Amino acid sequence: MISVEEALRIIKNNIPPPVAQPLPLVEAVGRYLAEDILAPEQSPRYTNSAMDGYGVRWEDVAAASPEAPVRLAIVGESQAGTAFAGTVGRGEAIRISTGAMLAEGCDTVVRVEDTEERGDTVAIRAVKKQGQDVRRQGEEFRTGDLLLQKGSRIAAPQAALLAAVGITAIRVYKRCTVALLVTGSELAAVGEQIAAHQIRDSNMIMLQAAVQETGGIVAKGIRVPDDAQATREAIAGTEADIILCTGGVSVGRHDHVKEAAEANGFAPLFWKIKQKPGKPLYFARKGDTLLFGLPGNPVSAFMCFAHYVRPVITALNGLPFGWPTVSGEVAAEITNREKRTNLIRVQLTWRPHGGYCITHAARQGSHMLTSLSEADGYIILGPGQTLKEGERSDVYRYDFRREPV
Ligand code: AMP
Ligand code: MG
Repeated sequence: MISVEEALRIIKNNIPPPVAQPLPLVEAVGRYLAEDILAPEQSPRYTNSAMDGYGVRWEDVAAASPEAPVRLAIVGESQAGTAFAGTVGRGEAIRISTGAMLAEGCDTVVRVEDTEERGDTVAIRAVKKQGQDVRRQGEEFRTGDLLLQKGSRIAAPQAALLAAVGITAIRVYKRCTVALLVTGSELAAVGEQIAAHQIRDSNMIMLQAAVQETGGIVAKGIRVPDDAQATREAIAGTEADIILCTGGVSVGRHDHVKEAAEANGFAPLFWKIKQKPGKPLYFARKGDTLLFGLPGNPVSAFMCFAHYVRPVITALNGLPFGWPTVSGEVAAEITNREKRTNLIRVQLTWRPHGGYCITHAARQGSHMLTSLSEADGYIILGPGQTLKEGERSDVYRYDFRREPV
């Protein structure tokens, strides 16, 4: 049996590097950049107007006021999509719309509300400063500036930024694929007729959801009876970055996952961690494929997923190996009376001026799914360790959509 820290160290040392692939922008949404993106052009691309109004020369209008408006001759128009080709001379103005290119000669925009058009002239009634309501070429960023850093997530704003500078494809990390092999002859699929001696398979949907929330792709999900040959064949017929088995990793006569993995060429890296729940966790590797044998017990399986598998998925997706954590204050003393490290389920409450408050979840039974569904995360206490009221602790959150920090 190894410690939690030792297990994490072994796992970390065996994660293959994330794989980058070029993808069209729309397919890259939700993934993480495998490269820095430098601006291929400046923004704004050309000097343009921030308002609907008139393009003018500052020297003509500097003295304008409501009492003494300045009248200018309108010599043309610059529209979004159709620029004014000429030059604006002394005493002249052009009509201009938001985003339209500023014409040669003018340096200032006066918004419609501060003007009055009559015939082919416009009266300027108010101005504040030279260059007002003008968006200058390159004021946002210059060619070659860093737009997005390697590791950034491509969501709607990042995709828009890339599209705006004409980037249509980028290198992002591949999403990690996970195959689920749920073992147990006692299992019935959800929705199936269930016999008195059977239990419903809740691990399949639980792990599908957990993998998806983490950003992984569920490559397949199959159920396998407790049978040595069936388990060997199921592993042989599975291709994914991670093979996630549940059940069959204890010492029972019907536990076949370890032998089946090793018969398929997987090298065992550890089996059993000094922890509760999830003691029988098994970890093996074959080339770049990692295999986890999670305990069958749904609570243990989930806790092992949260602490050991989830950070591997995030690392393979191009993020740091880590957990979504928050720090909080313990509401009342929590003690680990076990001889093993205990992953204790807790609830979090947000106090507007006091940060997070941590309370021990009512149910801790590792056969009770409500011990998970009613908790917000878990804290980790070593054997005999106590957290007194008011002491701080990190909480590992179950909100897998949050990125590790
Ligand atoms: P095992 O690790 O195979 O010995 O299973 C431990 C416990 O977890 C047994 O009570 C199983 O019935 C239960 N269990 C195993 N697999 C599942 C599953 N897919 N869904 C719900 N419970 C399960
Ligand atoms: Mg079993």
